[in-house]
Amino acid sequence: MSHEKGAEDDIFARLHELDLELLVAVQRRGCRDCCGGRLDRADFSRKVRGVSESAERYFETRFALCCSREGCRRRTLPPSLRFLGRRVFAAVAIVAACVAEQAHRRWQEARRIRRWLAWWREDFGGGPRLLELRGRLAVPIDRDALPGSLLAAVQGPTPADRLVRLLALVADVVAPIPHEG
Ligand SMILES: [Zn+2]
Repeated sequence: MSHEKGAEDDIFARLHELDLELLVAVQRRGCRDCCGGRLDRADFSRKVRGVSESAERYFETRFALCCSREGCRRRTLPPSLRFLGRRVFAAVAIVAACVAEQAHRRWQEARRIRRWLAWWREDFGGGPRLLELRGRLAVPIDRDALPGSLLAAVQGPTPADRLVRLLALVADVVAPIPHEG
């Protein structure tokens, strides 16, 4: 058994243990549906998904309680750290999958922005476009700091004005429109 697998099983064992503690705490309170009838174990078996085979043994049973009082017999389900409602996937697997997906998306976003920055530096800043803009604005524009350096170079009364001015310059340089007349 690898070290990682061992650590993983430790977590599942701990979740199982915590579920047992929750079960005991709920059982101690007695039935809430009558005058505090004694709660007996009424566990049911579950077939879990999303955990390794070696960990399945910690997910075989959903702890449940049942009122022992005749005429009540209400089932009480203690909270669970292992199961998320009726879902067949272990709660820990659902959380891990969602967090991984979010991290993946963030990573993809970061990669996309890196590609954009590379475009500013290599394509936009590498050709005659930047030279043309430098000439037009008559100020130095740091190629490695594009597009921030360009934004700092344009004039305008408000940030929105400067942004629009930048977009106009970029549009003009990237795809020059023939001037009238
Ligand atoms: Zn009861």
